[in-house]
Amino acid sequence: MIAGPWILVVEDNEANQMLARAVLEMGGYRVEIAGSAREADDVLRTIVPDLILMDVQLPGIDGLTYVRRLKAQPSTSRVPIVALTAHAMPGDRDLALAAGCAGYIAKPIEVGKFADQVRQFLPDRDRDQRAVAR
Ligand code: MN
Repeated sequence: MIAGPWILVVEDNEANQMLARAVLEMGGYRVEIAGSAREADDVLRTIVPDLILMDVQLPGIDGLTYVRRLKAQPSTSRVPIVALTAHAMPGDRDLALAAGCAGYIAKPIEVGKFADQVRQFLPDRDRDQRAVAR
């Protein structure tokens, strides 16, 4: 069995955690969930994911502040980070990009689209791997 790309989902809402895991695992990804920046730091000591999905509103350190920190750390600076936010307001995308995000996916998570939305942000190497895993 070929293992798919690792996705770290940093999201504090339990329903979104479960939905993201279910949809992404069905799409062939390996998934780690963290409920806060602190929990994400623990995960990042063990694995370097292929992509990070980052809720903007987190308890403790907010998502975009955490993105800036990850982008400044050599071990995570090259991992693409995609913001997840319920606030699909004009300007939010710019804030996410300014913080270092590769892009932006608006919540609520759309079950039929989410895996494909995520795949667009993966490096080509991982997209190929995903294709083989099918
Ligand atoms: Mn949240």
